[in-house]
Amino acid sequence: MKRALLDESPDQLGAWLTEQGFPPFHARQVYHWVFERRAEDFSTMSDLPKALRGAFGADWEVFSTHVTRHHVAPDGTEKLLLSCSDGRRIECVLMAEEDRRTVCISSQVGCGMGCVFCASGLKGVERNLTKGELVEQVLRLRNLLPAGERLTNLVVMGMGESLANFDPLIAALDWICSPSGLGFGQRRVTISTVGLPERMRKLAALDRQYHLAVSLHAPTEELRNQLVPINERVGLRDVIEAADAYFHRSGRQVTFEYVLLRGINDRPLDASALGDLLQRRKAHVNVIPYNPVPGLPFERPSDEAIRRFVSVVRGKGVSVSVRKTKGREIDAACGQLRRSEAVVQPEAAVAPVI
Ligand code: SF4
Repeated sequence: MKRALLDESPDQLGAWLTEQGFPPFHARQVYHWVFERRAEDFSTMSDLPKALRGAFGADWEVFSTHVTRHHVAPDGTEKLLLSCSDGRRIECVLMAEEDRRTVCISSQVGCGMGCVFCASGLKGVERNLTKGELVEQVLRLRNLLPAGERLTNLVVMGMGESLANFDPLIAALDWICSPSGLGFGQRRVTISTVGLPERMRKLAALDRQYHLAVSLHAPTEELRNQLVPINERVGLRDVIEAADAYFHRSGRQVTFEYVLLRGINDRPLDASALGDLLQRRKAHVNVIPYNPVPGLPFERPSDEAIRRFVSVVRGKGVSVSVRKTKGREIDAACGQLRRSEAVVQPEAAVAPVI
């Protein structure tokens, strides 16, 4: 099996070059081709010696996944379904809005958190993605942009619980944000988590500037236990305290995501409890009207219910916005495209990772 270029580091590639009798500085050239010049194949790296291009082609691959499907929605949202080298499928999305070019990547195959309204968690988690598979999603989507256009934002909000895959995720993001990667600003990266307090504190201790988004979805322990089963183990109070700790250490306002489900967590009393919970905190609430998943019994609230919910939360002095749904026509909710594919091609058995 060939070695995946993005799972290694420039130092590791340099060591291989030395073993093969080539100068190690070619490692820098290779990564420059991939990150800056959008190369997807060693044969296009025209300033490398021909013998070296051949050696790379025999032992290495630039990308370890291949594109199984590429959807483009009428609103311009593009979604890739990628097959990993072990046949497992992941998905990632590119969204364009005015001058923003945002990519949303997955962190795991499947998800072990079991949120009852989510397509990604239906079959549990199969495995964590590697550093290379994480970086690769960003590069594959970036390479869809016209020459000269750059990505502006990166969100880790696709399939999976990002902080359950902590070390590879941080390694991938740090690389993307480094001058030898895409030189991306850390403040333009959002890590979304269902709320794993110990991992949130570990992230705070790293002193990065990544933006943290906590998927709250309910303002009380009781309701959150029903919607986000992991809450029974972690507890809403500890999630909020860990979010406070992240803010105090990083100085970055935390966003709380709240998927709004008709008749379940969209009532005025839910909005009022949410406002009480977050009042006097440096926090922002992002309300996400539910994007229905075939086979699941949840519905999007009416526009009137959404307006009422927002107004009650805002009335408590909490900053709140409503996320626009992008790419609804191409199943852009996390896990949906992969799931619709799985009907055609059954996937490997589920082996929980955490
Ligand atoms: S909503 Fe997020 S954390 Fe919950 S099951 Fe889906 S992917 Fe996992």
